[in-house]
Amino acid sequence: MLLGAHVSISGTIDKAVDRARELGCTTFQIFTRNPRGWKAKKLSNREIEEFRKKMKEFNYSIAVSHMPYLPNISSPIQGTFKKSVSSLIQELERSGELGLKYLVVHIGSHLGKGLEAGIKKAAEAVNTALSKVDNNVIVLLENMAGQRNSVGSRFEDIRRILNMIEYPDRIGVCVDTCHAFAAGYDFRTREAIENTLRDFDEIIGLKLLKVVHINDSKGDLGSHLDRHEHIGMGKIGENGFRELFHNPHIRDLPLILETPVDSRGNFATNLAKCKELYL
Ligand code: FE
Ligand code: FE
Ligand code: ZN
Repeated sequence: MLLGAHVSISGTIDKAVDRARELGCTTFQIFTRNPRGWKAKKLSNREIEEFRKKMKEFNYSIAVSHMPYLPNISSPIQGTFKKSVSSLIQELERSGELGLKYLVVHIGSHLGKGLEAGIKKAAEAVNTALSKVDNNVIVLLENMAGQRNSVGSRFEDIRRILNMIEYPDRIGVCVDTCHAFAAGYDFRTREAIENTLRDFDEIIGLKLLKVVHINDSKGDLGSHLDRHEHIGMGKIGENGFRELFHNPHIRDLPLILETPVDSRGNFATNLAKCKELYL
């Protein structure tokens, strides 16, 4: 079972590996830097070495990085788009230096310019970044919840971006269960999951599904609300996750929690819940 959580890099970046291990994660996700700003300090050789040493020592083979919050690779605004591409290039480089296998990127928002424009921008951003950085990191497009102006909440939109990518070996998809559910893809029963995955397979192809963000959803099916909930406490519910964990197409993928930390639970409680449902 490859089960983990998004862990903090607070202190030094190698601390993230300790946190993942303390939680009993077998995979994990990080921001390689403070996600709230545009600027990042270059990783020192020492930071890289420490991180890689712990990854090896604790037997982590697959770990994931997530793009910071500010970039929008679908942006029609030239300045934002340029900064977003630079940020994607930087994160690709950093992920490679740290030995992370995947880099997850939100497809973003077209800000009113229309889906077509957003799809083109997203593909252009990924192609530019992949042309500038030559390493083994695979970029994963993360599906969106379908908020106003968002690009990539429908599998069809993701497929259209994929069709434009010039580096087919370096691209894949990360499905966030909360986002997909909010976008109208049901996971509440075995049959619903089979239907959703059949759609995914027909439109995108299950072999491109590399990571699943496992989050329950505060919002209803099709609500377009990006509000993560503790596993089993949301609208997908325990049965949905039990079935999801038993699905042969999902079960062996890296599964990463991005659940809330509040009075009702934290990563430890959610990991325990997942393990209970996984059995
Ligand atoms: Fe995300
Ligand atoms: Fe996510
Ligand atoms: Zn989300």
